[in-house]
Amino acid sequence: AKADGKGVCRFFSADMTERASRFLAMEMELRQALARDELELHYQPKMSLADGRLHGVEALVRWRHPTRGLLMPADFIPVAEDSGIIVALGDWVLTEACRQAAVWQGRMGTIAVNVSGRQMERVDLVARIGELTARYGIPPAYLQIELTESMIMGDPERAAGLLGKLRELGITVAIDDFGTGYSSLSYLRRLPIDVLKIDRSFVLGTGTDQEVTEIARTVVALGQALRMAVVAEGIEAEAQATLLRDMGCDLGQGYLYAEPLAAAALEAWLAAGRGA
Ligand code: C2E
Ligand code: CA
Ligand code: CA
Ligand code: CA
Repeated sequence: AKADGKGVCRFFSADMTERASRFLAMEMELRQALARDELELHYQPKMSLADGRLHGVEALVRWRHPTRGLLMPADFIPVAEDSGIIVALGDWVLTEACRQAAVWQGRMGTIAVNVSGRQMERVDLVARIGELTARYGIPPAYLQIELTESMIMGDPERAAGLLGKLRELGITVAIDDFGTGYSSLSYLRRLPIDVLKIDRSFVLGTGTDQEVTEIARTVVALGQALRMAVVAEGIEAEAQATLLRDMGCDLGQGYLYAEPLAAAALEAWLAAGRGA
């Protein structure tokens, strides 16, 4: 510890040491998790609001921890980001999504994969996706990439290059968590983005909070004006789905339809007619 001041010494003590060692322990465990194949992808349906049919799925990572049970992204993605493991983790996610896409052969529609900022910076994503889709023999159109609004608008010039190359490869791109960052409308218009995902925070208040409802309506209209497909995430109530559909929102995703499901559970869900 630094000894150049009493305050620093007191601050850099038990609490920080404990946090640092918890971080290191989790980092080591995460590396093992990758090596031991403890990660899983679960898939959440995206439904067409007009006819209630399955349109595609979003892949969401989980960690089947040997002693702590099923861990959610919030439990480990932050450590993965800060340690840099997110790059390897993200590569596992992409690979697994391609493997699954080859099994499903489009039966679940497109599989959307979340890509993190560091993964976008450090990997030639386009080359890697090209490699994986070739290895598994799937059309790139089976995949969709979700990038958050903040990631895209953080460096729109750079994003433009990546999005252009993804589109050339035949991969569609969604702008995720829309409404939580700051979009430049002129960039939004020029970037090759196929899908706009309205953040759950706006969907939550749709129908109950008048201001939020009007914001949702405006965002749907914006997506339509830009010829993007619009997805509402986090739909939990029928009333939200109806309102959003009437606003012109194309797709809905949320617990109302299904939670994220393991591959086999999603197949059972579809077989039971839920995605009809
Ligand atoms: P996201 O991309 O915004 O994903 C949507 C999150 O909302 C998921 O949480 C999903 O389970 C949850 N959700 C869906 N419908 C509902 C609903 O009706 N109500 C509520 N309350 N929640 C709903 P999850 O799976 O815990 O993932 C959280 C975040 O972790 C994701 O947010 C994404 O940012 C990140 N993440 C998940 N998988 C990956 C991955 O493979 N790579 C990267 N880089 N990030 C991932
Ligand atoms: Ca997402
Ligand atoms: Ca989202
Ligand atoms: Ca969100």
